[in-house]
Order: sequence, then structure tokens, then C-alpha cells
Amino acid sequence: MRQSKLFTKTRKEAPADETAKNAELLIRGGYVHKEMAGVYSYLPLGARVLNKIENIIREEMNAVGGQEIRMATLHPSEPWKQTGGWDNIDVLFKIQSRTEKEYALGQSEEEIVTPIAREYVQSYKDLPVAIYQIEQKYRDELRAKSGIMRGREFGMKDMYSFHTTQEDFERFYEEVKKAYLKIYNRCALVAKVTEASGGGFSEKISYEFMIVTDAGEDDIIYCDACNYCANTEVAKNKIGDTCPKCGKENLVGAKAVEAGNVFDLGQKYPKAFNFTYTTEDGGSAYPIVGCYGIGTTRLMGTIVETLSDERGIVWPESVAPFKAHLLLLGEDEKIKEEAEKLYKTLNENGIEVLFDDRSGISAGEKFADADLLGMPWRIVISTKSITAGGVEVKRRAEQKAEIVALDKIVNFLKV
Ligand code: ATP
Ligand code: MG
Repeated sequence: MRQSKLFTKTRKEAPADETAKNAELLIRGGYVHKEMAGVYSYLPLGARVLNKIENIIREEMNAVGGQEIRMATLHPSEPWKQTGGWDNIDVLFKIQSRTEKEYALGQSEEEIVTPIAREYVQSYKDLPVAIYQIEQKYRDELRAKSGIMRGREFGMKDMYSFHTTQEDFERFYEEVKKAYLKIYNRCALVAKVTEASGGGFSEKISYEFMIVTDAGEDDIIYCDACNYCANTEVAKNKIGDTCPKCGKENLVGAKAVEAGNVFDLGQKYPKAFNFTYTTEDGGSAYPIVGCYGIGTTRLMGTIVETLSDERGIVWPESVAPFKAHLLLLGEDEKIKEEAEKLYKTLNENGIEVLFDDRSGISAGEKFADADLLGMPWRIVISTKSITAGGVEVKRRAEQKAEIVALDKIVNFLKV
């Protein structure tokens, strides 16, 4: 893509009311546009990142057998009244129609997915089944000060699984936990798994996937020697205690963000919607349900928070809007021609590249934009680089640049 054609532009300042680093950098880079506290639009560069994050999640959910659907986000009030959520879920947005009717905006989708599953699952032979979607969610959050990490409208992958036995549910639960760790890993993040109580959902154990960052709103304690980690809200131990799991190290504390979670919902929702299936011996039973969430927009914010530096964002290749940022410096016609050729070659070889072909913009401004926007590779083409033997190539996260010959650049970037 040509930067001269990109309708968004970078800016020096973020809005004064924006305090979160992730939103500040994303707004300055033209990745997102703030509509109001907790609500953002995703612009071309931001949409590309979000699509890549969603695709990583999609691949891993498909790999565990999840079937993707798209559920309605404007909900009838009846199923919410049937489960009690209408009166008990404080973040539920309720809408009054100009008729007498009331609606809810989807904050989670148990009330919609359970009746859908009930319609198609009749026999034990139809189970297990796992259904997921990647959709907007709406929540009337009291505080929305963490940029895109806590939205009133935000993206979430939510999966729901239905099983005949607790053993089968637990087998799948473990598979999804592993898939989650892969997802964070592919996004260049390291998640710690905490055990937590099910909160409003159930009394059963749930797991939270925590990523250490000062921008997080949760406090965790963890052990450096083993994988013990707990949310301080529920933990029996505190900072400095000997690790209750391995006994080797003292527990340390950190701020963290909940990037995902998995819940054992038991039979609560099938009971609320009278969803039974025929068992092998001809009887009838309620399925056991699990639910699994990942905040897609929160994940994007977390990547920005954990990987940026004082100059801007540092995208990992897996989610970067473009792999490389090609900077054309100077107004020399010959160099311009070389740059155009290179841009074409990179595209033809499937290397995603943002081409800063803008004229009348200083080298300093182009460098500053490249740092702010954060593509993994910066390629500079100028009279100086051509004289030195090709283009000057540098990783965003490193200081050292090297000269790569024009006919070697494709192979250089492909490995
Ligand atoms: P939190 O404790 O942070 O409010 P939650 O327990 O309400 O999260 P869930 O209802 O289980 O979260 O939602 C699943 C996932 O969706 C969370 O793990 C998180 O990654 C994401 N998420 C939840 N609320 C928000 C929000 N307001 N903005 C962005 N992402 C969110
Ligand atoms: Mg919440």
C-alpha cells in the first residue's frame, strides 16, 4: 500500500483526555479513531492488525474443532429475562424500542447460543459440539480508561462447547487451554494461567490467561520457578510467601491484564432453556457446557502496551499491518524509479509492504513515522543507500542497519 494514498495520517499529539499508552500510540498512528470513552473505530492500519489477530484465533479454534458462526448482537429481552441476566448483569445495555419492546445488546452470548444448540442437538450422537464467533460485544463498563483494553464496545472471540460427560468436557477444556497459549505465543505474548472462581457465572473453577503489564487492571502473584499464578482477589497466598506449588521460590506480584478466560458453566444454561438430549440408554439429560473468551481488541492493546518503546509501536510480524515499511528519501528521479521497481517486486513476491512514497516530507519525518507505526522491517532507499550498494534495512526493534543489494532483498526478508 502507498502511504500517499492512505487516507489516515500520523499526528504528534493524542487527544488530551486519552491517558492509556495503547490508545495514545494507536490514535497518533492513525490505527484507531476515538468515538467516545471506551468506543473506538478501527481504521485501515488498525483493521489489518485486528484481522490478523482474529485469523490467528480462528485457526486455533478451528484446529480444536470449533465451528464458526455469527450470532446476532441485538438480542430479544426474553432469553435474558429467562436466565435472570436482565436484572442481574449490571453491564448489560438495555434498549427501549419506540414500540413497547425492549432489547439487549450482546455482552456475552449464552442466552443466544443455548437455544440455537437446543434446536439442532437432539441425541448424544450430536455431542460434543463447540461453536464460536468473533464479534462485537457491548458492556456498560463503569471505568473505560484503559484505551482499547477496556471498551464499552469491543471485539471478543467467544466459544461455547456442549458435552455429555464431565470427563469429555475436561478433555476439551484442556485442549482449549493449550490452544489459548498457542494464540498468545503467536502474538508474541506470554500468558500465565491463573485459577479463579467462576464469579457470577458459576461456583466452579475457571482459568484466566494473564499477561503481565503495568497497564493491566488485575493484580496477580506468581512463582518464577514453576507455573504457579493466581489472581490476588481470590488467592490464599500473598507476595513473599513460599510458592504453594513448588516450594522453591517466593511469590512475586505484578499488574496484569486478563487476555482471556475459560469457564465451566455446568448445566446452568441448558436448565434455563430446557435443553435436553436423548442419552444412549434412551433417557434424557442436560449437556455440560463450557465457555471460552478472548478479547481480540484487548489483545491488540496488550501487544502495543508490552512491545512499544519511547518512539512508538513495535509489532510482531504475525500481526503487523505490513511486514516492511519502504521509505523513499529525496526527490531524485532515478531513485524514485528504483523504489517503484522494488515496491513492485516486493508485492509480486507476497511481501506486505507499506511504501512511503510521499514527496515533500523530510527524511526525519519519515523515520519518525516508521518508528511510530512500527512495521517489523524498515527499508530505506536513497541516493546514499544506492551508492552504498542497495537499500538500508533495519529491524524496528534494533538499532543496527545493514545494506542489502536490491536483488537480494526478497530472499533477505523471506527468511
Ligand atoms: P474483566 O474482568 O477484565 O472485566 P471479564 O471477566 O468481564 O473481564 P469475560 O466476560 O469473561 O471477561 O470476557 C472474556 C474476555 O473478553 C476477557 O478475558 C477479556 O479478554 C475480554 N473483555 C472483557 N471485558 C472487556 C472490555 N470491557 N473491553 C475489552 N475486552 C474485554
Ligand atoms: Mg468485566
